Amino acid sequence: MIRKEKSYDLVVIGGGMSGICAAIAAARHGAEVALIHNRPVLGGNASSEIRMHICGADNHGKRPDARETGILEEILLENRYRNPQCSYSVFDAVLWEKVHFQDSLDLYLNTHYHKVNISNGHIQSIEATQLTSETTFLFTANYFVDTTGDGTLAYDAGANYMLGRESKETFNEPHAPKQADHCTMGSTLLFTTKDMGHPVPFHKPYWANTYTEEDLTHRGHGATGYNYWWIEIGGDKLNTIEDSEQIRNELVKAVYGVWDHVKNGVHHGADNYALDWVGFLPGKRESRRIVGDYILNENDLVSAKIFEDAIGYGGWPMDMHVVGGLNTNLEPTEFIYLPEVYTIPYGSIYAKDVDNLYIGGRVISASHMAFGSTRIMATCAIIGQAIGTSAAMANKHQITPREASQYIKDIQQQLLRDDAYIPYFANEDDSDLARQATITCSSEQFGYDANFVLNGISRSVKENSNAWRSKGISEDGEWIALDFPQTINPTSVEIKFDSNLSKQIMLSAFHNGLGDQENITVPVELVRDYTITCNQGTTSVYKKTVINNYQRLNKVSIAPCQPIDRIHIHVHSTHGCDDVHVYEIRVY
Ligand SMILES: Cc1cc2nc3c(=O)[nH]c(=O)nc-3n(C[C@H](O)[C@H](O)[C@H](O)COP(=O)(O)OP(=O)(O)OC[C@H]3O[C@@H](n4cnc5c(N)ncnc54)[C@H](O)[C@@H]3O)c2cc1C
Repeated sequence: MIRKEKSYDLVVIGGGMSGICAAIAAARHGAEVALIHNRPVLGGNASSEIRMHICGADNHGKRPDARETGILEEILLENRYRNPQCSYSVFDAVLWEKVHFQDSLDLYLNTHYHKVNISNGHIQSIEATQLTSETTFLFTANYFVDTTGDGTLAYDAGANYMLGRESKETFNEPHAPKQADHCTMGSTLLFTTKDMGHPVPFHKPYWANTYTEEDLTHRGHGATGYNYWWIEIGGDKLNTIEDSEQIRNELVKAVYGVWDHVKNGVHHGADNYALDWVGFLPGKRESRRIVGDYILNENDLVSAKIFEDAIGYGGWPMDMHVVGGLNTNLEPTEFIYLPEVYTIPYGSIYAKDVDNLYIGGRVISASHMAFGSTRIMATCAIIGQAIGTSAAMANKHQITPREASQYIKDIQQQLLRDDAYIPYFANEDDSDLARQATITCSSEQFGYDANFVLNGISRSVKENSNAWRSKGISEDGEWIALDFPQTINPTSVEIKFDSNLSKQIMLSAFHNGLGDQENITVPVELVRDYTITCNQGTTSVYKKTVINNYQRLNKVSIAPCQPIDRIHIHVHSTHGCDDVHVYEIRVY
């Protein structure tokens, strides 16, 4: 084995959606970062190896204006532009590009973390082996992030953890079981099918299970293979970590057995369908959860608690899978719907008893009930962005994650600036020069005043549009301008356009036109071409045109080289919408 030593500010272990967003956010805010991931492709359960779609607080588009923004939105819009064919392999490359080409971020694929070196509750270094290069690495860093899904690093480091279901009494949770137990949700192998255009046989392998219609009660099983998340095994008799190889074997037998039932049992309209892709790496739902300073619980979610130290939000129902999964014929899950989105506190995203360890993704400090909602990948992704943002700040001040809570307002403001929404929190950034400006525009619709671009909230919330919308787009385009009370020397104009946060844009393997995502395009509301002009008095001193934008957050560097007192944004076109939508304009 070759041995190498590497030193970083932050080492992130586990490149699922949470680890990816944590690593990118920290690198963008000045930390030197390594992302260590034991698979050949990024994305965890959203990668081409597993192919689960990324859901979030909008609950499949049912809650208006609730889609997660920030780094995840940037990734999904990039994917929408590049990958209208909805290929999971192409999505792998989109994720790889975002991480691999990010400055200050080194990606170690095929690299498995296996040892921690810790003293006095402080992680000094970790060891990892890269399978493809016969290399063992020693990584030293100031801070570590556990986004392994299983909390492996935290567990090895001796952090307190929870496993299984807490009793009702533990957190006074109405839907928790009377008695605590060690049961977790199980794991699943997904598969997709293909319409061959003519009848095709399926020859059942001798090792596949046999299922009857009664065995599959409550489990929809049509010809289009994707919606089989209920082929779930483990978490009761088999432990989802220790027994995961056995669980995989049982899942393979189950998948081929269920498909045999669909093809060769009573008629399921699957005569022309064949298995196209069958996963071999189970998607894991649940194992350890790590204890932080605060344990989020069902009551916080149901009461939509607004934590002072909120760093993100959730809104997916508490999606509580039945113990035993496929081995029962009970309803495979119970959805406990949440009336409003809830906030997630900073105190839940770092370990209580390891002083330089953040915890992200599905291992955050939450009860089993709260985990039922927070485990969803868009929620995991925004938690990751908050971790990266905090870690970069902690690193600047050389303080622990817990001590960084004294900078929570700065962390929150940075997150909002980077388009990570925190419900009930608004832009209060004193360094945003736009907040002093006066706004004028070419035209505005009733209820969509131009002034709203400065109201600090960058999405529609209930009846408040919080957006400027022009009255159509004239042949010359539409404009909005900021006049400053004194001259300024800005270097950046930051705009949040509308990418229609009520619509799903995630990649999905659903056959039927991806559910309600019938037109796989960049959202039509997004502004495409626009020009920023900086003026001093009536003289134009600087101009920059952006062509073919397809992102919601645009951070445009400008260099007027002399003081200015007016910024004029002229929109030439959108991606199809016949008026211009802008949520926020900031100037730095
Ligand atoms: C079948 C199924 C259906 C689901 N349905 C949905 C859904 O529809 N929508 C949704 O949003 N969520 C869904 N979920 C939940 C969601 O996928 C998970 O909760 C989520 O993936 C957790 O994200 P994460 O980033 O914490 O972990 P993961 O996505 O599991 O990523 C963690 C990564 O870390 C890597 N890793 C682990 N250990 C190490 C190590 N020692 N060294 C290096 N790397 C390591 C792993 O290989 C993994 O890729 C589903 C889950 C399953 C299993």
